[in-house]
Amino acid sequence: MTTIAFLGLGNMGGPMAANLVQAGHTVHGFDPVPEAVKAAQQNGVETFPTAVEAVAVAEVVITMLPSGAIVKNLYAEILPASRTGALFIDSSTISVDDARAIHQQAGEHGFAQLDAPVSGGVKGAAAGTLAFMVGGDDDAFAAARSTLDPMAGKVIHCGAAGAGQAAKVCNNMVLAVQQIAVGEAFVLAEKLGLSDQALYDVITGATGNCWAVQTNCPVPGPVPTSPANNEFTPGFATALMNKDLGLAMDAVASTGSRAPLGTHAAQLYKSFAEQHAGLDFSAIITSLH
Ligand code: NAD
Repeated sequence: MTTIAFLGLGNMGGPMAANLVQAGHTVHGFDPVPEAVKAAQQNGVETFPTAVEAVAVAEVVITMLPSGAIVKNLYAEILPASRTGALFIDSSTISVDDARAIHQQAGEHGFAQLDAPVSGGVKGAAAGTLAFMVGGDDDAFAAARSTLDPMAGKVIHCGAAGAGQAAKVCNNMVLAVQQIAVGEAFVLAEKLGLSDQALYDVITGATGNCWAVQTNCPVPGPVPTSPANNEFTPGFATALMNKDLGLAMDAVASTGSRAPLGTHAAQLYKSFAEQHAGLDFSAIITSLH
């Protein structure tokens, strides 16, 4: 079994670290927020007063943090203090450019490093069914499997450093466009006198089908478990979709891509998030009437 340092024990990191303990790994944790530390201790994580102490003997170092700037700063602090041969895995959602920069930062200190962002949300983190999208070299990916598997439903090696973050922003840009398109269709259908159930039955059996309607249907009724039935309690919060679309727009700008629909979706979610950051992102339908 492996000694794993887990830095960032928040909504996602907390349950992910707990699953590593459950799998028999020794987990050394650090988070600046006392409530996060306490919850992690209750799940069997051994916590430390600083990140440097948490990484000291770790063979694997996982970060699950709010932003690329925070990951970069933390790496600058812990890389000089980490054990020779340690494998670094960053599961935070950050920009492709930041992911490549921290990969290089780790490499300069002689460490292998992977970007491994996730989808599946807090529920997937608790259930150990997250989808990991991984960027980095083959050897590091192979070495990471026994660490990632207890937290994962699916682990996909997407390519070289940054490829995991690239896959995540591309997927979420598609999802945002689809959720808006599905919302527009239900609003138009209502105005045309078509019932929600009829439209649902037709789309899910036809070529417009996608997760945004089949699972995350934005009107109450057809899918009883969708957030629309529960006042748009997330699910996947608008704030997080807005963050991910910001990262997608960074990638669009830095590559000189066009992405006209993705760009429009990012604008719509940016203004929707000003008032409704805490609602599920399918609530965008309420702005489309
Ligand atoms: P969170 O805010 O609940 O947790 C982040 C944690 O990092 C906090 O506990 C914070 O105290 C800690 N932290 C901040 N600076 C730190 C430092 N220097 N050292 C150690 N810990 C530090 O956020 P979250 O929802 O757990 O999300 C974490 C990452 O996962 C984000 O990048 C987010 O975009 C991504 N993500 C979240 C979800 C989701 O549904 N919540 C889904 C997929 C991906």
